[in-house]
Amino acid sequence: MKKVDMLVTAPFFYTMEGDGVGFKENVVMVIDRGRIIDFVDTKQGKNLYSAEEDIVLDHHAVFPGFIDAHMHTACNVMRGLAQDTNNWMMHGLQPFENVATSEARDAGSYVAIIEAIKAGTTTVGDFEKDMENVCKFIEKVGVRGNIAQVVRSAKYKVYNPGELYEFDKQEGEKSLNKNIDLYKRWNNKDGGRIKILYGPQGADFVEASMLERIQKLAKDHKTKIHMHVQQGDRETYQIEKRYGKRPTEYLNDLGLLDETLIAVHLTDCKPDETEIIAKSGASMIVNPGSIAIIDGIVCPSVEFQRAGGYVALGSDQAPGNNCHNIINEMKNVALFNKIKYKDPEVMPAWKALRMATIEGAKAIGLGHDIGSLEIGKKADFIAIDLKQPSMQPVYTWPMRNIVPNLVYSARGHEVDLSVVDGRVIMSKQKIIGIDEMDYIDQLGNYPDDLGHKAEKEFFEVNGINAQFMREGKL
Ligand SMILES: [Zn+2]
Repeated sequence: MKKVDMLVTAPFFYTMEGDGVGFKENVVMVIDRGRIIDFVDTKQGKNLYSAEEDIVLDHHAVFPGFIDAHMHTACNVMRGLAQDTNNWMMHGLQPFENVATSEARDAGSYVAIIEAIKAGTTTVGDFEKDMENVCKFIEKVGVRGNIAQVVRSAKYKVYNPGELYEFDKQEGEKSLNKNIDLYKRWNNKDGGRIKILYGPQGADFVEASMLERIQKLAKDHKTKIHMHVQQGDRETYQIEKRYGKRPTEYLNDLGLLDETLIAVHLTDCKPDETEIIAKSGASMIVNPGSIAIIDGIVCPSVEFQRAGGYVALGSDQAPGNNCHNIINEMKNVALFNKIKYKDPEVMPAWKALRMATIEGAKAIGLGHDIGSLEIGKKADFIAIDLKQPSMQPVYTWPMRNIVPNLVYSARGHEVDLSVVDGRVIMSKQKIIGIDEMDYIDQLGNYPDDLGHKAEKEFFEVNGINAQFMREGKL
């Protein structure tokens, strides 16, 4: 009998192996040194292996852990403050963004990551200006991190409509050096659990020469570029005014479109532009809830997939989207595309699930290690409690309804167990090694102070939420 680290017994496994969901039943998943080394029949398992940690789940379905590929967790300190408005950045976010300190933003990040883990996320794709403390938190709680640092030359200030961004080369250099520094200190930390990517905020926010340098760095460092691409008419306007072409053509001419690029949103892409990006080998991250709330747009993820590209899901940020719950994004991407195409078959639940797991892993360059439960892959998985009302009843024949129930009905609290690199990071909705309430209380210290500091600008800008407040509608 071979001694291993962990055995996981459950009635149902959705391994995501192959082109579907890779369904297996009545098997034991065998884990050793952080990786899946075998699947054996439930009856045989205990004869072949003995384990340090024997996890027996009798009413659960096991899935690969979910990937939230694009988040701005620091914005969580402004959760719920910038919806239902046109020009969300200036009318919604700006009065609060201007007064949010880095401590407040860190406090927001911790709670956003806690929220994500509790809803089944095992890979956090965070993207912000200051990532040091986020990396420390990720190291502590044991979740997987795929982290990009914002690189930006455009000065942070309120620009008038039509005004071209003002580049500050020194600031750009400073932010790039910070990204390089973060890479050197954190990339591949904890046995490769933390990866650092390069994060130019968008083609409109940095000079062309900076983009070319970043691409070379990313290739030399065998990592990727995580960048907002053609994320709205604002970006399209800036690039057209500066270079006389639309963003996709500009990036293509610069040689930026290839497998090193993870392109976020594509909000303003025309069909031929989406196809050019997909066929270049670049991948896409779609953030359905966030872009619906901010822009009222369904981004072209289905077109991107049809052109052969991989698409991951992201929750983006809490002032707009309001939540970091990837189950919610699976439902959103399915619903929004059914409506967009007036076709209930265009995005079935199992496809949305693939976007949150294996397809998402391929899109962010981690498909060789995570995203499916296969021999040789890292043991990142979650167990869904099928005895929760939202998962009941369970059919196995003539149709299995577990995946539709998960995508269309689950809310996150059904995630009963979460494992990363073969280590339990959450059990029974409790994250191991931290007191969640400490972080929630810490975040609760900020709204009074930030609210009072933002008050003047909030009512001066007089966005729709300021009007709603005056009218007693919020
Ligand atoms: Zn973003």
